[in-house]
Amino acid sequence: MFEEILEYIRDVYQSDDFIPLHIPTISKIDKDYVSDCLNSTFVSSVGKYVDQFEQHISKFTGAKSSIATVNGTAALHAALSLKGVKQGDEVICQPFTFIATSNAISYCGANPVFVDIESKFLSLCPNKLDDFFKQNTKFKNGSCYNIATGKKISAVIIMHSFGMPGLVNEVLEVCKKNGVILVEDAAESLGSWVDGKHTGLIGDVGVLSFNGNKIITTGGGGMILFNNKEDGEKAKHLTTTAKLPHKWEYNHDMVGFNYRLPNLNAAMGVAQMEKINSFLKIKREIAIKYDNMISQMQKVSLFKEDENRKSNYWLNALIFDDPHDRDSFLEVSNNNGIMTRPPWGLLSEQKPYKHCFSGDLSVSREFASRIANIPSSVTGYED
Ligand SMILES: *Cc1c(COP(=O)(O)O)cnc(C)c1O
Repeated sequence: MFEEILEYIRDVYQSDDFIPLHIPTISKIDKDYVSDCLNSTFVSSVGKYVDQFEQHISKFTGAKSSIATVNGTAALHAALSLKGVKQGDEVICQPFTFIATSNAISYCGANPVFVDIESKFLSLCPNKLDDFFKQNTKFKNGSCYNIATGKKISAVIIMHSFGMPGLVNEVLEVCKKNGVILVEDAAESLGSWVDGKHTGLIGDVGVLSFNGNKIITTGGGGMILFNNKEDGEKAKHLTTTAKLPHKWEYNHDMVGFNYRLPNLNAAMGVAQMEKINSFLKIKREIAIKYDNMISQMQKVSLFKEDENRKSNYWLNALIFDDPHDRDSFLEVSNNNGIMTRPPWGLLSEQKPYKHCFSGDLSVSREFASRIANIPSSVTGYED
């Protein structure tokens, strides 16, 4: 079975050489815009490309305001701060995510609390979240408190795994009922929609990442997405050292962050956004090809969208029935020049987060052991 899958991956990428998991697609316009930016000398966080990049993202996603940041982690940190997450609070997130999600919580001086994912789209489970609130929290002076720890729960973060939109509308309902805000870690899901809404714009605030392995890249970069202009203004202020606008004076009205995206990186972002629709089209073709093969096979399936959601298919994922098969597949593929990898180690098992409060995490544990991500780059598919 493994040989068959590997042969098929080689067939999809028409290559006998090493096949990476996900590499960026960089072409002439990326170089032209970056070069133009260098020539302009406006290489830092002021410049036309930052504005253009933000406009591109707003137009594409439907956001009322998009604020570019140095990376996705900084975007998450700023989003949580802006939405009032404070020292000593607790923030609920799934353990099945990249460590940036919980690190951003820690940067606020808050603690993550882990609630499980559901088994269909592998994102925060609305039922388990609802149970968690019912069993472990109480409402006091208009806020939600963890009974066991006595701490205020100020936010929930849902992460759309591998670009697949999660059950975010259902999670939002639970958050509203309990008076906590919902942050979407949409770092992996630019170009992913649920019920016609772009991921990151369903909750109170969303963030994107443009790291080198994401669907578009600016080298490093991130974006905070808002459904209103006022929050965007606040986020811009917060991420620009909270400097009061003035031609020559330097005055600041709070402890802000130096998190704005340099124009140099934004130049690449503008070039990438001009190609996003072709990237998404190719991503979908690759996913369909993989599905044609995998749907014929026993004991393994492909992670797929349903009729209500549209995935960007950032990273395709194989789901093996048996964790032993998954482990053997990782070994055979990586030893044969095809890069594959397991999901992130669960956050609840990482050294800094081992002692955090958590609910039952059986589904996260199960899928962490059954999944292998397979090559999904645009580059190499249609060079
Ligand atoms: C990539 C990613 C981020 C942000 O990463 P940066 O490298 O800081 O841009 C955050 N959360 C998830 C789930 C990610 O995959």
